[in-house]
Amino acid sequence: MRTLLQGVDTVISCDPNDRVYRNADVWFCDGKIEGIGTFAGNADKTFDCRGMILYPGFVNTHHHLYQYFTRSLERVQGMELFDWLRTLYEIWKNLNEDTVYLSSLAAMGELMRYGCTTCFDHHYVFPKGAGDLIARQMAAADELGIRFVASRGSMDLSKKDGGLPPDSVVQTIDEILADSQRLIERYHHPEKDHMHDIVLAPCSPFSVSGDLMRESAKLARAYGVRLHTHVGETRDEENYTLSRFGMRPVAYMESLGWLGEDVWYAHGIHMNDGELDQLAATGTGVAHCPCSNMKLHSGVCRVPDMLRRGVKVGLAVDGSASNDGSNMMNEIRTAYLLHRLTWGEQAPSGYELLKMATAGSAALLGREDIGSLETGKQADCFLIRREQPDLLCAELDEKDLFGNVGYHKPCDLVFVNGQLTVEGGRLMNVNEERLYRDGKREVARLLG
Ligand SMILES: [Zn+2]
Repeated sequence: MRTLLQGVDTVISCDPNDRVYRNADVWFCDGKIEGIGTFAGNADKTFDCRGMILYPGFVNTHHHLYQYFTRSLERVQGMELFDWLRTLYEIWKNLNEDTVYLSSLAAMGELMRYGCTTCFDHHYVFPKGAGDLIARQMAAADELGIRFVASRGSMDLSKKDGGLPPDSVVQTIDEILADSQRLIERYHHPEKDHMHDIVLAPCSPFSVSGDLMRESAKLARAYGVRLHTHVGETRDEENYTLSRFGMRPVAYMESLGWLGEDVWYAHGIHMNDGELDQLAATGTGVAHCPCSNMKLHSGVCRVPDMLRRGVKVGLAVDGSASNDGSNMMNEIRTAYLLHRLTWGEQAPSGYELLKMATAGSAALLGREDIGSLETGKQADCFLIRREQPDLLCAELDEKDLFGNVGYHKPCDLVFVNGQLTVEGGRLMNVNEERLYRDGKREVARLLG
């Protein structure tokens, strides 16, 4: 099956040479980009892309999809992370397969409509008897047609052990490792399937024991899967590891074997120079989540200092209860403004943030096959129409557009693995009206 995007006005490739193509054809075969230039041959399907700008699909590197159904709850709006978590766990402990399936459809649907083609999710709430939650996430991703990296998250420290979550959502280390192994063996086959991956992701230093962190790292490395957790999000967390273990967060992670090319942390805000040097030296990455960090008053990630040192940084929306949307275009715009305010001339440019959201994020997931538009890479991309009043003048600088100006509409076309998944801003494979009705019913149950 060969698909042709004919006469694309501008292709922003985000490749290592920052190539931009004008009036180019782009064609895909069997899910991969076969060429960028002038097409001669026969295509099975042709899209007229004159007057459109083509970008690589965004790669989201941190999310909690289930939180889509606890967005904007009045009772937690004034809280910071620890109190916010304690309150929301009382709702999250009632989630089930329907909550996870429908919230995954809705949140990843929103992500994809705004140009995201790969989503990583950090799911760590597994209430007793709630069913096979990761299987339901995989089903939602398959239905949407989005590339999905699921995590087997975990928590083994409840309130009675000095952690934050209630007893009913934590599990024993043996239960967690057995289910992690089951999911890796069922879904993680990168040699033949690039649509699904598994990552092991114990939740955070304050809801997980050191033993679980260590054992998860051993299991992940035995299977060659990656590791992810929250680190350096708040001062409370810093105080927690200092008072409990006598170590700063990164030193604590190092003591557990949690530094390396195969590890990336969410947030990485409260880190000193030495800790940033350690991340750079070990290839440990950071998923930057500006909206969530602002909303929860967590702080500002030292992104310019990280980039200067060569720390790998990707972009992410974080969970829907602390964003409260799932829109990578909005995340780029927010990051742009936040860092301009905080660091002035040192702030990353709009284009640097676009690359962070594409190639940079792909590197965190250890994926060389996504994040840029190049021959041989996966055909994951989105198009927006240049010729519209909203983009007058802004279109003169297509590379910086999402940071400098912002773009606030869903995409005209989105392709994942060469398949059309969004057209005219609407999901191609999911009935949006039915999703709204079913989702509303589940929200009522969960919050009721
Ligand atoms: Zn998070």
